[in-house]
Amino acid sequence: MENNNYREIFIKNNIKTTKQREIVFDILMNSNVPLSAKEIFIKLVKKGNNMSLSTIYRILDVFVSKGLVVKSNISKNNKAVYEVKGMEHKHHLVCDCCGKILVLDNCPLEGYERSLEEKTMFDITSHKLEFFGICPECKIKIEGNV
Ligand SMILES: [Zn+2]
Ligand SMILES: [Zn+2]
Repeated sequence: MENNNYREIFIKNNIKTTKQREIVFDILMNSNVPLSAKEIFIKLVKKGNNMSLSTIYRILDVFVSKGLVVKSNISKNNKAVYEVKGMEHKHHLVCDCCGKILVLDNCPLEGYERSLEEKTMFDITSHKLEFFGICPECKIKIEGNV
């Protein structure tokens, strides 16, 4: 774990460095999918860390309020998930049933974005795109119940 980097990031974002904040941030930095507070909690328990869920929520709130982390409600049950802001550009595929999130390897919109700029004379600075569906495991469950 390379915590010196985190300290610098925290200072830049006006966040006081604490051990617990570093631990939660490390989990987010090492995840390639957005995580809910509960998923962070479970990862910490597996690592033998017994931080409470309410502590994790408090830390996440600080990160979000300082603009370090982005909170979004991309799953159908409106479960909030958190990811580090400014991580590489990503698109997600979300299961409507279990809320599982896959990250797409590449952006399908790069070429489209350029042609849209040409057509509209906009300078496009960003875009958002999420896909929703039913994952293979949930499909098996649903078909099994018929
Ligand atoms: Zn599913
Ligand atoms: Zn994209």
